[in-house]
Amino acid sequence: MPSSAPLSPLAPAAEHLAQVWARINRACRDTGRAEADVELVCVSKNFDAAAIEPVLEAGQRIFGENRIQEAREKWVGLRRKFPDIELHLIGRLQSNKAADAVALFDVIETVDRPKIAEAIAQAIGKSGKSPRLLIQVNTGAEPQKAGIAPADLAALLAYCRQTAGLRIEGLMCIPPVDQLVSPHFALLRRLATDFGLSRLSMGMSDDFELAIQLGATQVRVGSAIFGSRRGVEKQPMSI
Ligand SMILES: *Cc1c(COP(=O)(O)O)cnc(C)c1O
Repeated sequence: MPSSAPLSPLAPAAEHLAQVWARINRACRDTGRAEADVELVCVSKNFDAAAIEPVLEAGQRIFGENRIQEAREKWVGLRRKFPDIELHLIGRLQSNKAADAVALFDVIETVDRPKIAEAIAQAIGKSGKSPRLLIQVNTGAEPQKAGIAPADLAALLAYCRQTAGLRIEGLMCIPPVDQLVSPHFALLRRLATDFGLSRLSMGMSDDFELAIQLGATQVRVGSAIFGSRRGVEKQPMSI
């Protein structure tokens, strides 16, 4: 066998994926957490099916999208080829899209008001499909951002559990871009502990190791895997 034959190069996104996984596993080791405790949600918004396929080929199965229409266009086809994927909705949900979201997504991370909880409960009742659910918390109390205010979380949880009959697994947050993220991660963790919730979705490309240190059970990483969305972004990424 010719020893000079080059190894087939990985697609850049697959290579970046391996690097992100290595960093996740190191952050787990460094902070005494089991590697199996932390999931990577690979955020594929703004990238098309051709860009996503190498990451699927490399074994990644959990993905996040922030728009229902875009997700459907890409993932209905990709799912035929990779039926075991797990798709997370990480963008704002409108109540008139709840049925579409329940049909398409395995996890909805952005429950943030009673109206949405009610719409999801109805869609679950009609479809029999039952995505796992997280509540998005607006830890920075930003007026333009989705998420329930920390002070209103207790009431929303009670509504979800008692009125809508929904099981909530955990919390998700997107800290303000112009602030230190650690107080936001710590707040989300404290709220989850207070309310007996086991899943914490926090940490993105710039801060996922810190999020793991502060208790994240799932990190949402896009640009560190796919590269910058600048130029492919269709609208501002703040939601
Ligand atoms: C875009 C997005 C991400 C990924 O952000 P990166 O900085 O590219 O890793 C994570 N979470 C949400 C909710 C997003 O909209």
